Amino acid sequence: MRSVLRFFALCATVAIPAFAAGRVIILGFDGVEPTIVQTMLDAGELPALDALRKQGVFVPLGSSNPPQSPTAWSSFATCKNPGAHGVYDFLRRDPKTYLPAVGFGSPEPPAFAPDGSVTKAPAFRSVRKGKSFWGVANEQGAKVKILTVPFAFPAEDLEDSCMLCGLGVPDLRGTQSTFFLMSDEVQALDLPPLAGGARVPLSFAAEKASVRIPALRHPQTRQFVDAPVTITVDRNAKSAEITIPGKTIALKEGEWSEWLEWSFAVTPMFEAKAISRIQLLECGAQVRLYMTCLQLDPRNQYIRFTTPPEYGSDLVKRYGLFTTIGWDHDTHALRQGALTEDLFLDDVNRLSSWRAALTLDELDRGNLDLLVSAWTGPDRVSHLFWRFRDPKHPLYTAEGAAKYGRAVEDTYIHMDRIVGDVAKKLGPDDLLMVMSDHGFHGFRMGFNVNTWLIRNGYLAVEGQPDPKTASNPKDFLQGYDWTKTRAYSLGLGSVFLNLEGREGKGTVAPAEAAGLIAEIRSKLLEVVDPSTGEKIFQAIYTRDEFHGEAAGDAPDIQLGYADGYQSTKDSAKGAAPKELLEPNDDKWSGEHAASDIASTPGILFVNRPIAVKDPRLEDLGVTALAYLGKAVPKDFEGRNLFAPAP
Ligand SMILES: [Zn+2]
Repeated sequence: MRSVLRFFALCATVAIPAFAAGRVIILGFDGVEPTIVQTMLDAGELPALDALRKQGVFVPLGSSNPPQSPTAWSSFATCKNPGAHGVYDFLRRDPKTYLPAVGFGSPEPPAFAPDGSVTKAPAFRSVRKGKSFWGVANEQGAKVKILTVPFAFPAEDLEDSCMLCGLGVPDLRGTQSTFFLMSDEVQALDLPPLAGGARVPLSFAAEKASVRIPALRHPQTRQFVDAPVTITVDRNAKSAEITIPGKTIALKEGEWSEWLEWSFAVTPMFEAKAISRIQLLECGAQVRLYMTCLQLDPRNQYIRFTTPPEYGSDLVKRYGLFTTIGWDHDTHALRQGALTEDLFLDDVNRLSSWRAALTLDELDRGNLDLLVSAWTGPDRVSHLFWRFRDPKHPLYTAEGAAKYGRAVEDTYIHMDRIVGDVAKKLGPDDLLMVMSDHGFHGFRMGFNVNTWLIRNGYLAVEGQPDPKTASNPKDFLQGYDWTKTRAYSLGLGSVFLNLEGREGKGTVAPAEAAGLIAEIRSKLLEVVDPSTGEKIFQAIYTRDEFHGEAAGDAPDIQLGYADGYQSTKDSAKGAAPKELLEPNDDKWSGEHAASDIASTPGILFVNRPIAVKDPRLEDLGVTALAYLGKAVPKDFEGRNLFAPAP
């Protein structure tokens, strides 16, 4: 019955001519900047991609607006603009309460019966609307393999196919990644909280310290469910012995542990399983250990992230335990100094190689019509190492540039090797597309959008009537006087009107909205950085950009920063620091999140010529369906890259 209904649903589709019977392989690399690729192609540094360009094409790939990963990968998956899929930014807000939430979805805790047995399994509710193109292909009989495609989570139900979710998969705490820093620094208790991490102070007696690792909060009591760890150190030998329930390991300074397996008794009837690795950073006068976040165990998934569920165990049998956290490279730990640059890059290489091996293995195993596999290393390395390639960045040093100035290029060389290895496995009829979701820019100066809105009389702070001096250190849109507010910003590039009928305490009448948007837009386009004389915004977009069933959630104004500029993290969280502009002294030194879409395309290589001149993310899934001879749903907005424009 289900397939009959599917058949009729698919009859109402656009007919697109199909190619010869080959497979479709799409390799995705997050955040690859086309201008760097062009330079490296010209220098002969990317031979596999160069061969692909000669067979077919290399062009910039139009990103989503804004060109940030949750939005862009959702446009890729659903072949739709954000107005239709509804993922606009890392953060979204409930307009009635002004309270923020994660922009692409949130974990839902389990529910228990009085005896502690599970009545509702933990789950993840995605904000994204619309079917994935691989789900559509699978409904029409295609066998698909979907490997760590960002923001394609939760795992979809697919027939005779497999899926391993990537970015979006949380840790056991339900966060995007919370690492642990265990340390006996005397001041550890007084240090500020770690963004993206948890401090675990160690207190040694006779060189032995016992602590408990706080894992996840109990859904009812909200207390942390934890487990004990004992650390015994030999400072002369620079080594430590670490005991967790059921296991003792020995580590030398600078060494990584194997995967450790954790079990947390949430109720007498339910244990949450996790895995983690530990690195002994320092074992001398001071002891410091870094532990990865508590990652979901692939054999016993707290929230399902593979299809079929047994695929997780299957992968463990094939390769041993592996990284499952979606935010797979621990950028937080590098920013907070809990990991060094070298350890971070080693980990990027290790994980990229693991994903390459998995991809090649899945190709060898066959039984597939469509394979999509993605890597996030280029994006993360670009975010954190851009400071070494931009002499104008506040953290640039010649010494750093000599050592890490080509860290981004190194990830592209790795990408090229992966593409070459995959290309060798393809038959003459197979279609290969290599793509990136967006490009990259430097991030030298942060702009406090909410502070600008205050200075210009659009946003009011409780108890601070003077717009020339008012500021607000509180995150998450707390502390504003909504009765006097006309516009506010939340997220990396979104500005919202305080609209009557939509916002809980709206002040802007719907009839005034268009005029107010136009007024704010024209003022923003004039904002200049006094230290350089440069305009901060290259473009300012409005909600007219977005169309579809989720257009009601769109920002009223979408910022389009010029190279070098982005919203500050404080402003993104809804605060309004005192200064309008703040030099970016964070290692997070490259960005793209609210850059102008017009100057932030990704890349596209195809192993045969294409007919469409200006390909966009939404086109790739449509092209894949057409190539496989499958019907394309009417609501897919993309174009078949091989069909000339009518
Ligand atoms: Zn990024």
